[in-house]
Amino acid sequence: MAVAEAFDHLRRSALGCLCCGARELRRETQIVSGFLAARAWGGPPQITELATCPACGLRFFERGLSDAETARYYRGYRDAEYVRSRWRWEPFYTRGQHQALLAWTHSPLRTEAVRAALAQSGAPTHYASALDHGGDQGQMLAAVEADRKAVYEPSACAAAQGIARYDDAARLPGGWSLILSCQVLEHVSSPAAYLRNIAALLADSGWLYLEVPNEQWRPAPGRETLRAAWLKQLLRWRPLLMFADLLCTASRIKLGRLPPFGFVAMREHLNFFTAASLRAILARSGFTVDSCGINRAGQLFAVARKFATVDAGSDRTVTTIT
Ligand SMILES: [Zn+2]
Repeated sequence: MAVAEAFDHLRRSALGCLCCGARELRRETQIVSGFLAARAWGGPPQITELATCPACGLRFFERGLSDAETARYYRGYRDAEYVRSRWRWEPFYTRGQHQALLAWTHSPLRTEAVRAALAQSGAPTHYASALDHGGDQGQMLAAVEADRKAVYEPSACAAAQGIARYDDAARLPGGWSLILSCQVLEHVSSPAAYLRNIAALLADSGWLYLEVPNEQWRPAPGRETLRAAWLKQLLRWRPLLMFADLLCTASRIKLGRLPPFGFVAMREHLNFFTAASLRAILARSGFTVDSCGINRAGQLFAVARKFATVDAGSDRTVTTIT
């Protein structure tokens, strides 16, 4: 029986880069958002670090979430109460923005991008079975033809018509010919453990379509020691912290850079991938990569196939025989 390695969600860089394993990482001080801290573990905003891997370009927050914190955070994800409580910390997360996000989630542009990426990678046009893992209502399955379609979604959410729904990971059967994992990997504390689980759910030589946001930005100008001292002070002034968060978020999203002494608040996205980092983590998690790049919807994607036998030789996997 394979036993997952002891993964420390508070020190995620303990074994090096989460994707390629490189030990030398650059570090900078960042802030955990008040909303995430309150909802996941009932705490105030706090300091964390963002690690950057010079080898593969992955950026990731040092702190992640435990299983219990993840369950707390994603319970009733994006329902009315979620929007109200998020608004208390992030007045810029308006109802209009929330609706725009939901509209994008269900847009045909996204499914067309999946269809095109799979076709371009030489993937089959028809599958015996297809699973959308963490897929909301399973709307992305409209991109593929399959005899049997299902969605795995732990948060309470009805599946689209003709799609079976699983909400309990323990009851999820394996042997899938195709798995879609869209906009999930950036949320998980241990991406390698997540992908090994996906590999275990796939049939031998089964296909994976993996998609994450393409989020890149230039770091904040200014001396790191001064910036760290400033961010610690900022934690004490909630209105100023909220204003600075708004400024930094707008600058990063709209302009692709942070203002001087700016910061990236840790919210739901714990990991920021590059094509090189996706390739690296897939290769270490039991997959061969067929294609990887930016899809038509502007998202970073990879199409990969499971090795016939999952490589248990990764330095992150501990296997015991019972
Ligand atoms: Zn790396």
